[in-house]
Amino acid sequence: MRVIVIGAGLGGLTLANGLRQAGIDVVVYERDGPQGRAQGISLHFDDRGVGAVRACLPPAQVAMVEATMGGSREQALTLSEVDGELVIESSQTLDAKTGPVRPGRQVDRPLLRAVLLSGLGDAVRFGAQLTRIDQLVDGTVRAWFADGRTDVADVLVGADGIGSTVRSQYLPDVRVVDTGKRMLMGATPLRRAAATGLPDLIGHSAARAQAGGRMMAMGVLRFTQAPAAARAELLPTLDSRAVADAEDYLMWALPTTREQLGPAESPQALWRLAQDLAGELPRRLREVVEAAWPERTLVLKAAMIPPAPAWTPAAVTLLGDAIHVTPGFGGNLAMQDGQRLCDELVRAAQGEQEVQAAIGAYEERMRRDSYSPAVSTAAGSTA
Ligand SMILES: Cc1cc2nc3c(=O)[nH]c(=O)nc-3n(C[C@H](O)[C@H](O)[C@H](O)COP(=O)(O)OP(=O)(O)OC[C@H]3O[C@@H](n4cnc5c(N)ncnc54)[C@H](O)[C@@H]3O)c2cc1C
Repeated sequence: MRVIVIGAGLGGLTLANGLRQAGIDVVVYERDGPQGRAQGISLHFDDRGVGAVRACLPPAQVAMVEATMGGSREQALTLSEVDGELVIESSQTLDAKTGPVRPGRQVDRPLLRAVLLSGLGDAVRFGAQLTRIDQLVDGTVRAWFADGRTDVADVLVGADGIGSTVRSQYLPDVRVVDTGKRMLMGATPLRRAAATGLPDLIGHSAARAQAGGRMMAMGVLRFTQAPAAARAELLPTLDSRAVADAEDYLMWALPTTREQLGPAESPQALWRLAQDLAGELPRRLREVVEAAWPERTLVLKAAMIPPAPAWTPAAVTLLGDAIHVTPGFGGNLAMQDGQRLCDELVRAAQGEQEVQAAIGAYEERMRRDSYSPAVSTAAGSTA
């Protein structure tokens, strides 16, 4: 069996690692270069993301991810200001039964991506933008790329994110709806945030504070083991700027709207806007935003994909943001998709089922678990 994966995001790279581990011929085509584009700073990683890592990555890569995650996040705190200082007003235990967010741990996103890539050797082709797919009469699929390249495989997986070219051709009726909501996100090195008292106050918990109609969400990533030390011990072949740049930080998020955001695009402009938005928040939170790394400020556009009715399985399929969007935990769902699709394809490669049956089984589960009302309309994000 030969598999083409379009997109070297969290879901596509998880799938490709799992297939490669199982000895299946897989190639990943990625539009961007190896560094990719800014897609966030850290992820709240729950049992679905951790489970996918454990199931699909080589042992050294699993050890590297687990060694560098932050501490256990079990609580969501609400903060308020008393006499100029922040205090914990209330706390709630994270539980998927009572809310959409599960307990988990923080992972540094550039580091996670670098580790996912490191398991794949030469199976990733960068600078390869898919433009079109053809399903051929012999059941295989041909992929066409902007630079004129083509490739053929038994299965083609669209793991190409919310603007998916694969989806727009394969399932043209599926719509992406812009909710108009935006999330300005940034990070402040812990050494600069320490004086506010906030890192000690919230520990590893998620936290939020509200004042004057404005809300700020935040969380701390303290690497359990420093990435450079973990690399030396566990994965010396990992060659990435993500390791050299890594230091503990406090991540923050300010909900806003498309209209409030206006034309601001550069990280510097977004950081200045974040300072304006934080203007009515408690002093300690304003200080955190002021002390941030300006170049790491980015904006998250909250879109949603209304659940699509079931379609007939074929040699083409989709995973992650390409077919369901959940800004708060879409990374976990994309990785879970990658793991589940991998399991089904491995069983097909071993002759236990037909390829189309494997894809059909994966898609049915994906629709059931990722299209629940809470999931398909979620527009928030966790810091
Ligand atoms: C700021 C921010 C914070 C977030 N926080 C969290 C969090 O805490 N927890 C969580 O679980 N999720 C979080 N998410 C959501 C999560 O990032 C996404 O759900 C996840 O990245 C989706 O993974 P994916 O593999 O489906 O797609 P992506 O990661 O979007 O990857 C798609 C890849 O496909 C490539 N591509 C696109 N078009 C083509 C083409 N035509 N040809 C070739 N390649 C192409 C892209 O360059 C990209 O590399 C956050 C998102 C953002 C933006």
